[in-house]
Amino acid sequence: MKSGYCRILPCVAFAGVMSLAISCSNALASNGTKPVPALFNQLEAFHGHVCAGSIFGARMGLAAKEELKKAGGTGKFTARYYDLSCPVDGVQVGAGTTYGNAALAVEDRDEHRLVLTAEGNKRKVEVRLTRKAEELGLKSRDLGKKAKALPAGSPERVQLEREIEEIFSWLKTAPDEEVVVTLLNNPKGSR
Ligand SMILES: [Zn+2]
Repeated sequence: MKSGYCRILPCVAFAGVMSLAISCSNALASNGTKPVPALFNQLEAFHGHVCAGSIFGARMGLAAKEELKKAGGTGKFTARYYDLSCPVDGVQVGAGTTYGNAALAVEDRDEHRLVLTAEGNKRKVEVRLTRKAEELGLKSRDLGKKAKALPAGSPERVQLEREIEEIFSWLKTAPDEEVVVTLLNNPKGSR
């Protein structure tokens, strides 16, 4: 069952989102929850910069969507994220649940936690980050601040930028179980 949310998106008159909407189902089609590079190009265009938060948000969204499908979730999928920050855009791209189609709510509680609900049968999946993913996200942010304080092109800055790039690359490509923790939370405990 393929969610139809990507197809709903073009009503949003925003070129970046439109191109994302047209290609996101293809970008995910053949690779399970493992995102292909095209997805991250779309994410960057949509979000406006590359950062750990948007990347891990996409991983959380993808993992939640796949898990909820596997668990037999029916109807429209809706997302709730518990921090108003970069991962929200990742969730929109990864899970296809957008603010514009009323499939996303945000509660700003400083928690990197996503709950995806299948409105048809109310099955839910909750996704959090592994400690490693969370720590690497914070580390990339700290390294970014340090790098910005150094002259562009200096060897120290280049080295820091390389480390940040490695973190982003890990967040994009590591297996789901190393990046996210997924919990099914279904009515009556059924699967
Ligand atoms: Zn960001």
